[in-house]
Amino acid sequence: MKKEWMNAGVAEQTVELVLAFDRDGAISYGNRSALEKLGYTQEEMLSGSMCAVFRQEFQKEDGSYINFDVSLLKDGQETVMYRKNNACFPVMLHFTADEDGGYLLAEDIAYRKNMDIRIRQLKEEEEANQKARNEFTANVTHELRTPVNGIKGHVMALSENVQDEEVRKTLDIILYCCDNMSAIINNILDFSKMEAGKFTLEEKEFDFYKMMDQIIATHTVAINKKELQLRVHIDETIPQLVIGDELRIGQILNNLLSNAVKFTTVGQVSVDVSKTMRAGDEVELFFMVRDSGIGISVEEQDKLFQSFKQVDASITRRFGGTGLGLSITKQLVEMMHGTIHVESEKGKGSCFSFSIRLRTGQNVDESGDMSETYRNWNNLTESMEESGHEERLTFGTKENREELRKRLEKLVLSIELGSWEKAETLAQTIKVLTQDRESELKRPILQLEMALRKENYEKSIAAYERVKETLTAMVEGEEEVR
Ligand code: ADP
Repeated sequence: MKKEWMNAGVAEQTVELVLAFDRDGAISYGNRSALEKLGYTQEEMLSGSMCAVFRQEFQKEDGSYINFDVSLLKDGQETVMYRKNNACFPVMLHFTADEDGGYLLAEDIAYRKNMDIRIRQLKEEEEANQKARNEFTANVTHELRTPVNGIKGHVMALSENVQDEEVRKTLDIILYCCDNMSAIINNILDFSKMEAGKFTLEEKEFDFYKMMDQIIATHTVAINKKELQLRVHIDETIPQLVIGDELRIGQILNNLLSNAVKFTTVGQVSVDVSKTMRAGDEVELFFMVRDSGIGISVEEQDKLFQSFKQVDASITRRFGGTGLGLSITKQLVEMMHGTIHVESEKGKGSCFSFSIRLRTGQNVDESGDMSETYRNWNNLTESMEESGHEERLTFGTKENREELRKRLEKLVLSIELGSWEKAETLAQTIKVLTQDRESELKRPILQLEMALRKENYEKSIAAYERVKETLTAMVEGEEEVR
């Protein structure tokens, strides 16, 4: 083999170091590269020994060498080679040997090693920078929440005593802007947490139908305002109690629903939920949020789930937003072991569908644990579909009185327990449930929201009593009329 190389001049041309040696480790050949890199003349090389070149393997502590043993060098091994001037450099060995000696080809990997170290350093630097950026974003966004909530609280307090319709409208716009700003701040906060790998999901038992109920109620005002038709269908076999992150499932649905409403001017928005699989204590739920809005072209659909991507810059000007919503939604769905898809046609509407897996609560009844509200909800939607009835579905009025009573009970419980956020959500859904009569309730419910936001127990209870009184008076009034 050595002869063939030398004859062909291959060994002389190669950039790697080539050495041939006998069974005692005496070097019998070194190519040009070996001479250059080890700093030997031809004569020195031919009188040299493998032990001096591979001191890591063969040198004793006192500086003398052990007998050469070829088995201490292995093919594919990374080691160091020593120059005449005692400096060393890292190499990777390619090796063949027999009882008479062998040949080796040593690849100088100093450059690669340095590159690896540099890449690692750059990566570490980038990670540290990213971490600092994320922490900064998280801190800033967190700090931004306080003034936004402050503005909101004061505007709400102002609206309590305002009679002038124009001023009220302006205050409503400020409140609307504050809500938008809060949504953007929350999105940025979630996004930076996800980027920093600090985002975790909760695992808590919750009532699936109640959650759906609240989510739908949140969007009803906007849907009614735009005079859109809302259809909701929920598979009755979905267990009532499931275990997962209620807040984050709500976030996914809220994002899809608010987009559906935002981008639809005529027609309908629909929500379908079905159970696609049940294995052991796990269920897979499949959600579809459809709209008959502006739609998204196929090319634009590709960019949809990427961060900071909005389909069209003019959309940002027209509708606002950061383009983070769907990217966060996708990450949330994936964290819940699901996938998300979009089907859409420009001008014809869109359908966003996603699946998630949840564990089920203990007392699950496979025959279906659907709450009364949803049974009515489904029945009503179905009968409307069958009859082709075009009437708008309003989540309020008489049918929901029982629901209202339950919410009030929960609200007072939440106040007692100091669950302020939950209480605030409940107060908002009560406002939605009673939207037809909102003028009578506006003042007490605003006072309630204010007190809840300030987390003031006494004021919250007092405001709660006023809301309850007003509601009772409204119901009695209604009864008298009948
Ligand atoms: P943002 O967080 O700014 O609301 P999203 O990530 O939720 O952004 O949505 C990004 C973009 O995708 C929107 O600006 C819009 O162009 C498009 N889009 C999302 N949902 C719909 C929909 N239902 N109909 C039409 N366009 C949509």
